[in-house]
Amino acid sequence: MLDKVKHTQSALQQDAQRSIYYPKQEGVIFPQIPSFASVEEERRHRKERLVAACRAFAQQGYDYGFAGHLTVRDPEHPELYWTNPMCVHFSQVKVSNLILADHKGRVVEGDYAINRAGFVLHAAVHEAHPDIMAMCHAHTVYGTAFAALGRPLDPISQDAAAFFEDHIVIKDEAGQVAVEEKAGLSVCDWFKDVKAAIHQNHGLLTASRHSIESAAFWFIALERCCQQQLLVEATGIKPVMVPPDRSRYSREHVGSEYIGWLHFQTIWDQLSKTQPDMFD
Ligand SMILES: [Zn+2]
Repeated sequence: MLDKVKHTQSALQQDAQRSIYYPKQEGVIFPQIPSFASVEEERRHRKERLVAACRAFAQQGYDYGFAGHLTVRDPEHPELYWTNPMCVHFSQVKVSNLILADHKGRVVEGDYAINRAGFVLHAAVHEAHPDIMAMCHAHTVYGTAFAALGRPLDPISQDAAAFFEDHIVIKDEAGQVAVEEKAGLSVCDWFKDVKAAIHQNHGLLTASRHSIESAAFWFIALERCCQQQLLVEATGIKPVMVPPDRSRYSREHVGSEYIGWLHFQTIWDQLSKTQPDMFD
């Protein structure tokens, strides 16, 4: 199964070329999709972006104690995952305290413990879907509140349309701590061909087939959409929906993996310039 895991940079490039934002202009500054001369270089790149994603979660206030975990596959050993250390605040995650773990949640490399309850859920999804490169999960205020409704997001804006027919509501195992592998397996049964899930009575999950950057940005976007829908519904006025055909068009153009990756470049730029200790 794992031999199906492909090097994703070319897939991201193909996705980029379908985007209306892909630059046709010559000689201007625009984020370039990286290429790597060695697996070590690619591993370092993934670890740095995973750290940046954790720091971005800290900035956003997704720091409910030790709840929350982010994973990205190792480029050489795709059956192993880099993840944030347990009980380390997202703002304190750095390259040197990341941990590498296997499907069972056993630490292969690193000094810290793993959040096994959460990791098992991630690992089950990763194992069932070899194409999923990275995942994010946290117990956020608006995402968890919205998840209590047991409903999907409505396409009330262009931003929300990015998730139109591209997320699911998972009702199984709702509200139980995800310590059982069974819980993870029930999630992975559902987590097919979509980039996000609203786990009823629990919180949000996002997945990327390309990068931790895309998974992290779409998590931030999903939390924001949950907040916006709750705000709109609190008015008691029925919102105007983006029609399905226009929602699909928006999703194709502003909801792709490439667009998630591209949005994250602004976050990466800000964090890498202001928080150099993340590279330690
Ligand atoms: Zn959780």
